[in-house]
Amino acid sequence: MTSPPHTILKSRFLWQLYGAFGLMMLICIVMFGFVSSSQMEEDARLHIREGLNSQATMLQFIMKPYLVRNEVFDIHGVGHLGDDPDTRITLINPQGLVLADNREDPSHMNNHARRPEILAAMKAGMGASERYSETVGFNMLYLARRVEENDALLGYVRVALPLASVERQLQSLREKLILSACVITLVFLAIGFVISRAVTSPIIDMTRVASRIARGEFNLRVPSLRQDEIGLLAKALNDLAEGAERRIEQVTHSHDQISAVLSGLAEGVIAVDTDQRIIHINAAARDMLRLENRDMSGLPLWEVVRISEICQVVDHCMTELKGTSTTIRQGKTSLDFSVVLMKGNEKRGQNGAIIVLEDVTDMLHLQQIRTDFVANASHELKTPIAAIRGFVETIIDDPAMDSETRQRFLDRIRSQSARLDNIVQDLLALSRFDNDSRPRSLSSVDLVSLVSQVCSTRQSDAQDAGVTLTTDLPEQRLEIDGEYGALDQMISNLVENAIKYSDPATGRVEVRMFQQDDLVLIQVEDNGIGIPAEEQQRIFERFYRVDRARSRDLGGTGLGLSIVKHVALAHKGAVEVQSSPQEGTVFTVRLPLHRPA
Ligand code: ADP
Repeated sequence: MTSPPHTILKSRFLWQLYGAFGLMMLICIVMFGFVSSSQMEEDARLHIREGLNSQATMLQFIMKPYLVRNEVFDIHGVGHLGDDPDTRITLINPQGLVLADNREDPSHMNNHARRPEILAAMKAGMGASERYSETVGFNMLYLARRVEENDALLGYVRVALPLASVERQLQSLREKLILSACVITLVFLAIGFVISRAVTSPIIDMTRVASRIARGEFNLRVPSLRQDEIGLLAKALNDLAEGAERRIEQVTHSHDQISAVLSGLAEGVIAVDTDQRIIHINAAARDMLRLENRDMSGLPLWEVVRISEICQVVDHCMTELKGTSTTIRQGKTSLDFSVVLMKGNEKRGQNGAIIVLEDVTDMLHLQQIRTDFVANASHELKTPIAAIRGFVETIIDDPAMDSETRQRFLDRIRSQSARLDNIVQDLLALSRFDNDSRPRSLSSVDLVSLVSQVCSTRQSDAQDAGVTLTTDLPEQRLEIDGEYGALDQMISNLVENAIKYSDPATGRVEVRMFQQDDLVLIQVEDNGIGIPAEEQQRIFERFYRVDRARSRDLGGTGLGLSIVKHVALAHKGAVEVQSSPQEGTVFTVRLPLHRPA
């Protein structure tokens, strides 16, 4: 992954590096320029002086005869005096009188004995000075040499160059130096940019990749072809990303596993951190607390769970650092609710809490049903047993009892034991179809013939009770998959009840059957006492009777309709009732028809 040029040009590091490089280069070039220009200037001055010196040395010999004569003369007639037209030549006698000058008329010139170069030459043989010339009116570089013969001073030869000419030569040198410095600067700046870019570019690439890795793109890698420290850094970065990617994968994998386990749990699980902010909430907990299906991570518990009881208990547990469990009621729902504190490591201390919720509504309901059932069954059984015991004890205690009374007691004992038998039979039948149990011996049962058979069996009972029992059954067979005995008992119970709860003489019971789509409907209608609306749902409960005394007098156990309901459910059907007091009742059983394979 290479950075585009505009990104590189925006890099501060590039410009810092390049700036430092440029500055260093500038300092070097300026220092080098300064030192070399000073040296060159010195060399040039030395060279000019040497030139003047050799010219003066040459003139020493040429001018010797003129100095010996010690007369003013015109120097222009002397012949070749030098190459440089700017050079001024002056001949001075030992007293300072100017004998000749190639620029001025010697008669107009002052005594030169006190000129610094003449004084120096007088002492050392040669003297030089840079100063303003009053004669010619500008700065000059003077060089004078003593001229002697046989240790006798003949005078001085002085050559001079205007400093402007020296400056011109130096200026040209400086210009060349500056030009080469500029060219070197440009070349070095270009080289410096290329080097800075070469150093910066991989760092920019690595920075970009590193920040993208930090944002979660762990699959990215930096090219690490170089063998130097930058290459090693890239490799280290790649190792880091690979390690992070592997660890994130592991963490994600274990997180997914935990989520899968938690979402598969029937119990609701909510994990919160120390600030009671949600870390995880599983589907079961959402269902139990009727929460929306959206991400709730990070939200405070009290904002999500509106049940103040839960929030208070969690709060208390986290303050007291102690788990607890309790049961709460939410409308018709009962929730078992426990809080377990999560133990963090030593460094981080406590790590939050886990709330486990279990919907125990059905369990509590079943428990209640069981308790009620045991109480009701004991009560129902207790009554005939107590009666039988009473009659038996009376007969035993009274051996002299007359035979008529004894016979009456024995009849009562028989009827009570028949009642006991009915109860036990019904309980046995009920236990077979309780809860999820299904019919065991399934076969194809023709309901038309079954109902018709039950009705003809019950015809005599109906006649005894003064009730008219009629049927309205279809011609064709209507078959279902079921257990013949159970279905027989279901229809018998309904017909029996219809006869029992109808008025003698005026009572009419009709049993109808018809097909409706995939269902067969069996209706048992009577014009009997009817059932009040508020009792209609409860009559299917075990031992529930609208009029307990009347039912008992009629030999009822209170289990008949409960058996009807369970048999219908066991055959994937249902039963319902429509009734008006004093007008009559219709029970409708719906059963799914047999589907040929
Ligand atoms: P029981 O043995 O008392 O008849 P069931 O479970 O069969 O028990 O019926 C429960 C109660 O429903 C009865 O006690 C009675 O009050 C009421 N009941 C059932 N069938 C009828 C009906 N056809 N007409 C009026 N009331 C009925």
